[in-house]
Parts: sequence; C-alpha cells; structure tokens
Amino acid sequence: MNTSDYERFKNTFESAHGQQQRSPFSTLLTGQIDYLAIDCCLDNWKNNTAKADLLLVKLHDWLELEVDPERIENESQIPDVYMQGLRKMDCLRARIPEQYGGLGLSQCRYSQLLEKLGSRSEVLALVVSVQQLGVAQGLLSLQKLERTPEQQQSGEALRNKYLKQLASNAIGAFCLTTPETGSDPSRLQTIALASEDGSHFELSGDWSIGGKLFTTLGTIADLYIMLAVVVYPGEDMTHLDPRKRITAFIVERKYPGITVKPLSFCGWHGLPNAAIKLNKVIIPKENIIGEVGEGLKIAFMNLGSGRINISAISLGMMKHLGRVARWWGVERVQGGKPIGEHELNTEQLVKMNASIYACEAFLQFVSALADQPNADIRLEAAMLKLFSSHVLVEIADETLQLRGGRGYESYKSQVSRGDTAVAVERLFRSARMMKIGEGGSNVLKLYIMRCLLNDLLQDFNKITDKEIPLVQRFTYLIKVCMRHVKGYFQFSKLPKNNIKQALSQHIRYVEKIHRYLKRMIIIKLAAEFLNFYRQLSTNYLLKRPVQQIPRPEASFELRQVLLGHCTQIAMLLSVMTVTCLRAAKDASPEAIELANEFCIRAQEQISICRIKIANHHPKRGDVVNKLGTKIMKGNYVDILEQNIVRANLPNI
Ligand SMILES: Cc1cc2nc3c(=O)[nH]c(=O)nc-3n(C[C@H](O)[C@H](O)[C@H](O)COP(=O)(O)OP(=O)(O)OC[C@H]3O[C@@H](n4cnc5c(N)ncnc54)[C@H](O)[C@@H]3O)c2cc1C
Repeated sequence: MNTSDYERFKNTFESAHGQQQRSPFSTLLTGQIDYLAIDCCLDNWKNNTAKADLLLVKLHDWLELEVDPERIENESQIPDVYMQGLRKMDCLRARIPEQYGGLGLSQCRYSQLLEKLGSRSEVLALVVSVQQLGVAQGLLSLQKLERTPEQQQSGEALRNKYLKQLASNAIGAFCLTTPETGSDPSRLQTIALASEDGSHFELSGDWSIGGKLFTTLGTIADLYIMLAVVVYPGEDMTHLDPRKRITAFIVERKYPGITVKPLSFCGWHGLPNAAIKLNKVIIPKENIIGEVGEGLKIAFMNLGSGRINISAISLGMMKHLGRVARWWGVERVQGGKPIGEHELNTEQLVKMNASIYACEAFLQFVSALADQPNADIRLEAAMLKLFSSHVLVEIADETLQLRGGRGYESYKSQVSRGDTAVAVERLFRSARMMKIGEGGSNVLKLYIMRCLLNDLLQDFNKITDKEIPLVQRFTYLIKVCMRHVKGYFQFSKLPKNNIKQALSQHIRYVEKIHRYLKRMIIIKLAAEFLNFYRQLSTNYLLKRPVQQIPRPEASFELRQVLLGHCTQIAMLLSVMTVTCLRAAKDASPEAIELANEFCIRAQEQISICRIKIANHHPKRGDVVNKLGTKIMKGNYVDILEQNIVRANLPNI
C-alpha cells in the first residue's frame, strides 16, 4: 500500500469509526485500568431472567436430543426441521426488542445462548448470530445516529416494518464484502446510482467487481443490508470520496435483478453462504438506513456485537473440544498410563483449560459491558474476538493431536469402524474461519492499537501542529508531560473484594507492564518524530522537496510488527485483569488455580513479546521490508520454487 492509498484507507476508517469513547481498557496506555467498572460488569453478568432461563433449558434439551451436527455436515445443508426448531425455540428473534415482537434478551443471555448452540452445532449458532446482525442490529444501531424528529420517524418506520418481519419469519443477512473489498471498505465498488428525481437507487455489481461475496445466509435470506457507494447522475465514480458516499440499504430478496450463487468452504459445510450479483436492482429511497454516507458507521456499530457473538460461539466450541480432550486423555492408555498423564500432554490439557476459563471471563465482561446503555464496546469486543479465535484454533489443534489418528479421521469413518465417534476434524476446520470473519487477526491487531493510541497520538499531534502558536504548543507539552508523570505514579483503585494473595501478584504485574508499554511506545513515537524532523531539516538544507516525507504518526502506524507485539501485550494484560477479578468473585480454589495458571502462561507470552520488541528497531524493520519486496518480485524463485509443478496460478 503506498502512502496515499494508506491515507485514503485511514481517513475512510476514521471518519466512520469516530472517536474511541472511554471504556474500561481504553486508557490502558495513557491512564489507568478501570478495575471498578470491570468488577461491576462481572456482577451484572449474573443478572438472570426467568424468560432466558426457560429458553436455555428448552434449547439444551432440543440440541441434545434432536440435533445432529453431522447430519448438516453430510447433507451439506441445514435440514428444514432444524430451521423450524430454531424458530420454535425463539432463537431467531431472541435479541429483537419485545416492542417489535422479539424476546428482547440482553447481550449476556444471548451470549450464553450462542455458546450453548456453538457447543453442539457451530453452523446453527452462526445462523442465529447472523440473523441478529444481518438486518436487525443495523436497524437498532441506527437509533444512535438519529438526531432530528424526521430521522427518528423514518428510522422507526423501517424498524416497525422490518424488525417485525424478522421476528415473525423473515431471515436477514449482512453484505459488506465484495471481490475487491474485505478489510478495506474504501475500495468498495458496489454502485448505487441515484435516479434523476431522487426517488430510488439502482444497485449494481457483478461476480468480479461490486457484487457481494461470502454473504452468510445469502441463499436463504429474505432481507439484506447491502453497503454501496451512492453516485448521482453525471458523476464520475473515480473521483468520489467513499467516506461521504458509502450507504446502507435494506434490499428485499424479491426485488428483480438479484442472482444468488451458493458458496462452500473448507469447514462450515451446510452453512448457507452466497455470492450475490446485482443487476440494476431498484431500491426505494425509504430503504436507506440513516443517511447517505452513514453506511460504514452502521457497519462498525454492528461489528462490535458481531465480535462478541463469534466469541460466544467459539467458547461453546472450545468447551466441547476441552471435554473431548479430557475424556480421551483418561480413556486412551499408551506407554503404560493414560495419555493425559504423560507430562507433555498434561501441560497441554492444563493450558487449554486455563485459557477456556480466561476466555469465558472476558466474554462475561464484554457482554455485560455491551448491556450498559451508551457503552463503547468496540475496543474490548475486538480484543475478545482476537483472543478467543486464537485460543479456539490452538485448542482445536491440540485436541486433534491428542486424539492421534482418530483426530484426523472423519466422523463417518469412525462410525463405520464401530468406534466411539467424535468429530474433532470438523471443528478443526470450522475453527480456522474464526480468525478471518468479523475482522482478520492482523487487521484487528492494528485496530486495537489504533484505539489504544488515540489519546497519545492526539497529544503528539497537538504538540507538533504548525498551525498552533509555538508558546501554546510548549505549554501543552509541559501539561502533557506532567499528566504522564503523575499518571505514572498513580495506581488504579482495586475493588474492595479480596483479590486473593495468589492473584494479587498478577495484578501488580499488570500495573508494572502497562507502565512499561506506555513508556516504550512514547519513546518509539518520540524517535519517529525526531527522525521526521531530522529528515525535514536535511531536505530543507539540501533544497529537496519536503512533502514526500511521511508524517511521523503515519510512519509509526506502518510499523505493524511492533504494533502487533504491543497489541498482544495489551490484550493479554486485559484478559489477565478480568480473569483475576472473575476468580476473586468465583472464590473457589479451582477458579483461583485456573486463573493463576492462565496468568503465568500469559506472562511467558508477554516476556517473549518484550524480547521481540527489544530486538525490533526501525533499521531491522527496513531490512525485513526490503527482503519482503524482493520475495514478492520473485528474486528467490530460482532457489525456493525449483522442482515443483507450477499449475493453477497465473504466472507471477
Ligand atoms: C465463512 C465466512 C462467512 C462470511 N460471512 C460474511 C458475511 O455474512 N458478510 C460479509 O460482508 N462478509 C462475510 N465474510 C467475509 C469476511 O468478513 C472477509 O473474508 C474478511 O473481512 C476478510 O476479507 P477478505 O477475505 O477480503 O481478505 P483481505 O481483506 O483481502 O485480507 C487478506 C489478509 O490480509 C490481511 N490484511 C488485510 N489488510 C491488512 C492491513 N492493512 N494490514 C495487515 N494485514 C492486512 C487480513 O488480516 C487477511 O489475513 C465471510 C467470510 C467467511 C469465510
């Protein structure tokens, strides 16, 4: 990506995302961790309702007695009776507010529902999650953007029409991804051409550009949210600013011009997923969600909830895999004792279980945070998704390894031999998608760091802004330094309840390392600024153009490897904090043991990241970047790609 492409991507992202609001971990790098808010969320997680309890019990029995995930796998589709079951169980309207005909479950109870579904059938769990995210969440998020009575009126009209349909029998899907756009929506090429009289829009996009790709529920949906770039008659698409034009439309399946092509993946067999071609599909202007240009804002609001949901499904899957590993660890005897008792396997089992405990703690915290009115959950939800998807993939891999040949063998084949069949390989394949959907891991790492750096970058920008008089900038610099020095010696308030001795050492560690992280980032940022001014003055003296030198914060943000390590540390510190607070509440010796184990392992990972950060300096980064460029140019082909059959790929 060159600098101007990057700026375009960043500007589109930032104008849609807006400022990161205060949240318990948003001040990890500039202030303190809000332990009291986390503690309060963990308390709120337990607030149950009779309605939710009843639903979870009914669902449990149905999943145990009537649902066979292997049937979905073998038939490569969801049997009608399962879709009817989901509807009968009220899963497809569980989180739609009661006033529109839904059950109005809180995010906490909804996370539990998805976890339960995920523990039996990941496909059914994803169907339920996308049904909420597809159209319902978009319409509900819109409420936060409505400012005038007219906006409220038109928003309410859409909600009344479409939420009621979703609560009764319609299926909804969400379509952002296109062939040219996954992580970078500023390149979106789905066109919404406005009519001359402004009464409607014409949506276009085909299989290779602008059409929708990877739409979950795409084949069975009645309603879609589609993101498209609005173009007015006579305008040239290439000169448009996507920030001002990406818009969310509700599209009904019955509108003429929609062609749906089913897709399949390495896992998730039976998941209805589609590519969608749009041939001048006419959409009435009343079907715009919000205003022209607000599409990405709505998409970002949806992503927070989507990431919690994916994590809840992941937790269900990992708990099931953990159970399989425990069973086989006891059952299978090799080398004179159960394989779970061989030290290398014991180590894996302990790690797995400690991670599951930590993952559940973080899910409880973020779900309860989402239930607070006006809370900004985007940072914490991104951390949760990054953490849970990586834990799930690791657990699926370890469980498969522990099962040996049976882990790699299909369920069907195990049944045919009369063995006790367990489908680990199916979950192994499905787990891998969790690192891609709802934000790929690398993109999430950068996103998390961007949220955490928000305040620091603002300080740096103010200090170096040439528009502000020098004296004012200097006064601001002193203020910022004093704030940071004061913050450095200020320790966060811990909740009154007893963090047990075994865990208080981990909280002290968190306090120590978040100070290290802040110190290190300030030093690296300052170095980037000094480098910028050095280059600026050299170019000025040598009368070279100065415009081409990237701004220091931009060059800092492109140091992705460094930022990736920082995110890893920030994420682990956050999960450690929540896990210790949860264990203090659970108060059983087992909970304390699991939390302690998790924290010890997290500290090991943090130490590795710190070594990598210490070894990472800009010159080393530049060497690796040059090597990467040469690899992509094919400079090493003669050494590395000899003696292979070069089929199926275009010549590169
Ligand atoms: C089973 C399944 C279901 C899906 N359901 C839906 C759905 O319902 N609706 C929908 O709209 N989409 C859906 N998707 C699409 C999914 O959201 C995208 O695949 C995902 O956002 C990644 O986009 P991409 O595939 O274009 O990858 P790309 O954006 O091309 O990224 C490829 C790789 O590069 C990395 N990368 C990209 N940009 C950067 C960067 N700036 N810096 C560093 N690394 C970067 C990414 O992390 C990724 O690893 C689904 C996908 C799958 C597999």
